[in-house]
Amino acid sequence: MATTIIRGGTIVTDYSVFRADLVLKDGRIAAITDDPDLLPRADEQIDATGKLVLPGGIDPHVHAGEPGWPAGGDFGTETMNAAAGGITTFMEHPLSLPATSTAERVREKQRLAEEKAYVDFGLWGAIIPESLDHLEEMRDAGVRGFKAFMPFSEVYYPNVDDAQLLDAMLTIARFDGLVLVHAENAAMLAANLKRLQAAGRKDAAAHFESRPPFVEYEAVNRAIVPAKEAGVRLQVVHVSVPAAAEAVKSAKAAGQRVTMEVCLHHLVLDEEDYLRAGPYARCAPPIRARDQVNALWSYVLDGSVDSIISDQSAYTRAEKEAGWASIWDAPQGLQSIEVIFPLFLSEAVHKRGLPLDAFARLTATNAARATGLYPRKGTILPGSDADLAIYDPDVEWHVDENLSFSPHKWTPLHGMACRGKVERTIVRGQTVFQDGQIVGPRGFGRYLPGVPQEARAK
Ligand SMILES: [Zn+2]
Repeated sequence: MATTIIRGGTIVTDYSVFRADLVLKDGRIAAITDDPDLLPRADEQIDATGKLVLPGGIDPHVHAGEPGWPAGGDFGTETMNAAAGGITTFMEHPLSLPATSTAERVREKQRLAEEKAYVDFGLWGAIIPESLDHLEEMRDAGVRGFKAFMPFSEVYYPNVDDAQLLDAMLTIARFDGLVLVHAENAAMLAANLKRLQAAGRKDAAAHFESRPPFVEYEAVNRAIVPAKEAGVRLQVVHVSVPAAAEAVKSAKAAGQRVTMEVCLHHLVLDEEDYLRAGPYARCAPPIRARDQVNALWSYVLDGSVDSIISDQSAYTRAEKEAGWASIWDAPQGLQSIEVIFPLFLSEAVHKRGLPLDAFARLTATNAARATGLYPRKGTILPGSDADLAIYDPDVEWHVDENLSFSPHKWTPLHGMACRGKVERTIVRGQTVFQDGQIVGPRGFGRYLPGVPQEARAK
């Protein structure tokens, strides 16, 4: 295979930030050097002078819409969006129709994705009442992480009760897999919905009122305790309130293996933005009030938060528009994957002084560790996959709802000012996105089966 040299860039990794040239060969990082005499002959030279060269982003929380929602987006469109955002790997969630709850469904989804994907991907499995006897077979099909809903979600994805959750945790602990929880209190949420709907509320604020911070942080605490009992690794997905982040931080400090994700939209939008965007910003947990948003940032900046995520959920405009008449009719989730990491660079690094090495950890390295992919993915080391995102760190632009590759042109992040842009995305040595265009081959993305890092090390 071809040899590519990336010259003159600033290399940003989880372990250091430094000037060096990279040699890519056979899809891997072959060498890192600051001595031009050591560079081999290359088939391709990429000038990265003035640019940042980062580990390709890893988004551990994406909904690709297959099978079940052919209209919303598929593994083709969602991996194109990912590539445009400097993302070279994502983990796809099991909230499909049908839910990804058996090994056969894992393999079906793998096939659907392999036909179309532009970047690499892994698959999470479902923890639902009917999947409790199928966790090990999904592990054998390459699934490393399993997702449970504590509150009601969808009829085809029933939530588990506390006993079932503990049962799943004990099974998954035996092979040192990862348990992912959507943590909100089912009974409190259901009672709030019943009360608001009985009062005839259909406005956007009613959704916000139905899921107050306590509904989330009570459940986060309730997930941490059985995970400790089971000795299982826990990832709390989309933490949106500081009290929940504090619970995870405390458990970590006590030595428990628990990690947390935060959605970019919970850091850059607040209640007022939500009320303006209405159904387009309807998501769960909801966009929070400004004081909650500001306090959540402190957990990002102090290193407590592990990964920034999109929770990408593509829907048609018509599906979202239905929410203006009744907010309950708008599907939950939003489109953002194409812009989350450039916006995070802008908001965290440029505006709030987050060091670049921390940026690499939050956008790649920590997710690679949680998914068992490190150091093949998530860093820049000799032997790692040549998964890279090259940023122009200073170009200024605005997010436009005419997203490049989504079939549906909307995002509640429309109009946000951003400093820093992805110029090129490289997956295993192959440029898949460059200067606004997808150039990589369809079907290039590979399935990433595997076992957890800790199990491999034993
Ligand atoms: Zn999600």
